[in-house]
Amino acid sequence: MGSIAPPEETIFRSKLPDIEISNDSPLHSYCFERLAEFANRPCVVDGVTGKVLTYADVDAAARRFAAGLHGVGIGRGDVFMILLLNSPEFVVAFLAASHRGAIATTANPAYTPGEIHKQASGCGARLIITESCHVEKIREFSAERGVTIVTVDDGPVEGCHRFADLLATDAGAVPAVEIDQDDVVALPYSSGTTGLPKGVMLTHRNLITSIAQQVDGSNPNLYFHKDDVLLCVLPLFHIYSLNSVLLCGLRVGASVLIMRRFEVVPLMELVQRYKVTIAPFVPPIVLKFVKSPLVGSYDLSSIRMVMSGAAPMGKELEDKFMANLPNARLGQGYGMTEAGPVISMCLAFAKEPCEVKSGACGTVVRNAEMKVIDPDTGASLGRNQHGEICIRGAQIMKGYINDPEATNNTIDQEGWLHTGDIGYVDDDDEVFIVDRLKELIKSKGFQVAPAELEALLIAHPSIADAAVVPMKDEAAGEVPVAFVVRSNGSEISEDEIKQHVSKQVVFYKRINKVFFTEAIPKAPSGKILRKDLRAKLAARFLD
Ligand code: AMP
Repeated sequence: MGSIAPPEETIFRSKLPDIEISNDSPLHSYCFERLAEFANRPCVVDGVTGKVLTYADVDAAARRFAAGLHGVGIGRGDVFMILLLNSPEFVVAFLAASHRGAIATTANPAYTPGEIHKQASGCGARLIITESCHVEKIREFSAERGVTIVTVDDGPVEGCHRFADLLATDAGAVPAVEIDQDDVVALPYSSGTTGLPKGVMLTHRNLITSIAQQVDGSNPNLYFHKDDVLLCVLPLFHIYSLNSVLLCGLRVGASVLIMRRFEVVPLMELVQRYKVTIAPFVPPIVLKFVKSPLVGSYDLSSIRMVMSGAAPMGKELEDKFMANLPNARLGQGYGMTEAGPVISMCLAFAKEPCEVKSGACGTVVRNAEMKVIDPDTGASLGRNQHGEICIRGAQIMKGYINDPEATNNTIDQEGWLHTGDIGYVDDDDEVFIVDRLKELIKSKGFQVAPAELEALLIAHPSIADAAVVPMKDEAAGEVPVAFVVRSNGSEISEDEIKQHVSKQVVFYKRINKVFFTEAIPKAPSGKILRKDLRAKLAARFLD
């Protein structure tokens, strides 16, 4: 990596040697580098319709759609939003962003109008690709701001362009775009270590490096390969699925089986029908699986590997789950949107499998450096010492869009990304995550930013002050709960508060419980003392 660490720093690196990573091609060329070899292989399989697109089909569709984007005014550096569930259209639209030198910001189609507007206006999205059922949520905003809407439905929708029409554009008629590897291509949103959700600028270089760290190299058994069938059930609007499932799958020439949304029985049917070999999950999906009485009724023996990430998974759940999958190994990964996202991954699938310890999140990826620091002093810590995980390498984000201050608070002058996670590295280089220093709440694998909910709460005239913290929950991992100080004379109830928030946010950000209190504990700087509230919460449930 070139940088020389001061002697007192302990730097952790992968157990595997570094690899050469392409430094001149744009993301789509890198992913389709072996197109000639893979052209007729199934690339994207639609789990709903059964329709199969080959590698040649997907490549051609992305080129045509990119030309169609040009026709509606999207050029290099322009942002457009993909507001879709997993679908072949999502894949084509994202790859088209790469061809056009444009930037795709991805968002959950279940978002409320307010959530969509905040993201789309914050990053200056000029076009939104969605389904007709979401158009009413964005029509007013789009008209005000001159945002073009493209719908993926078969029929026409008033005032919108049809995806199919853009897809019918002659790719040869549009000049190719010069792309620099440092151009931004993906703009997922994340609240990072503090505050409101922010646009995470991931460049062609960031994503290529991250994909290469996971699947490139001469070891044919590392992670996954061209004969694999990858289940793509995790939402592609989250970087974990977009990068570690879709883009890594394309790079190795695997088949990506697309499922629109998670439902346990249809999922097991798809695994059986398509002989899925790789199942990337998150712990809440694993739990639903374990609890399903039908889990024994399907042949799931084709699965050779289950990847789990985005949130911690306990040993008990791990053991129960794996008892149902006789031929599979489980590997946890650890990542963060800002890190591209993969920070560490399990090497159980490498040619010479290493022993996988329960609860371990693998070892740091190749071509990267990790250190663990004392969160108070910033001093580098050694093995087995708990501290904040920091990561450095060409895969980490360029920064937050339009927010240099937040960027500087997250990536220090030496290029280290501070994750806000507390963990340690053991004697065998295995990474363990034990706590979270940052405010972030992870519910069902999705991000909930306390600051966003606090802003909604204190906007209510009957609420004088509020703070939101995570509470442990078996199904979701964590759920947001609120401590609320009523305004003078107000008798607002828990239900009224919950409804006030529910109306404005997607389902997993809803407030689960309200605790009324006299005051929110704060530091002299005004910063909420979240640790105190978490302790108060823990004490409440011990009473
Ligand atoms: P996101 O940016 O949405 O991917 O969320 C990143 C955060 O999720 C990390 O900073 C961690 O707090 C948490 N996280 C991700 N993977 C794991 C894991 N395997 N174990 C524990 N926490 C995780």
